[in-house]
Amino acid sequence: MRKKIVAGNWKMNLKLEEGMQLSSEIVEFVKNNHLETLAGKPGVVMFTPFVHLTSVADFTAGIKGVEVGAQNCYTEEKGAFTGEVSAEMIESTGATHVLVGHSERRSFFGETDEVLAKKTEIALKHALTPVFCCGEVLDERNAEKHFEVVKKQLHKGLFWLSEEEFSKVVIAYEPVWAIGTGVTASPAQAQEMHAFIRQIIREKYNDKTADDTTILYGGSCNAKNAAELFANEDVDGGLIGGASLKAEDFCTIIKSF
Ligand code: PEP
Repeated sequence: MRKKIVAGNWKMNLKLEEGMQLSSEIVEFVKNNHLETLAGKPGVVMFTPFVHLTSVADFTAGIKGVEVGAQNCYTEEKGAFTGEVSAEMIESTGATHVLVGHSERRSFFGETDEVLAKKTEIALKHALTPVFCCGEVLDERNAEKHFEVVKKQLHKGLFWLSEEEFSKVVIAYEPVWAIGTGVTASPAQAQEMHAFIRQIIREKYNDKTADDTTILYGGSCNAKNAAELFANEDVDGGLIGGASLKAEDFCTIIKSF
């Protein structure tokens, strides 16, 4: 059975002490509600800035149901790449996940499908779970090209993986027009795209792989709309930006399953 996940993408927010405070409130919530032991409840992943990783990973070590991830990694193993952070370094902090291809990386930092394929490869090599982001911009949706766009992103970024490698990947469908805008995809729009993604995984791999792949929704998901998004058969949780920065909102989203 596929895993449910509620993940917070802190982006470039929170000083270290603020991040530690937020982590401790989330951990308290998970413990107090016994979420780590309740069947059907989601795992929580916090995608922190690089500088928070070691502290948050140390703090959450051994706590079931709470994991930590980086928001990016570099394509190469090591060397003269000033300012970059490798998958091996991320792994060494105790983090277990890494975002690959967030739309902000694609648009502000020019990350191409080819670069993202390399990042996926190196993340898997270092036992990190890549959370691979895909999604169309508004013009593409208005032109009814959204299925084509997402299919191409998945083909180039992921579908060259073996079945075994692919089974370690999580997908996040994040329509770019919904990220940070307050405009959320409707539950029907989210379900339609998630079902499409699962279908193309089925065609490329097989039934088991498709049924076991966790597909998250991201884009202005918040404490008010999470329950109706997560109620959809093919929506296995969320990648949450703005609403992951306040413990109360994020914990309400975790409770939405
Ligand atoms: C994100 O950055 O992945 C995201 C979904 O942001 P927001 O929830 O703020 O739209």
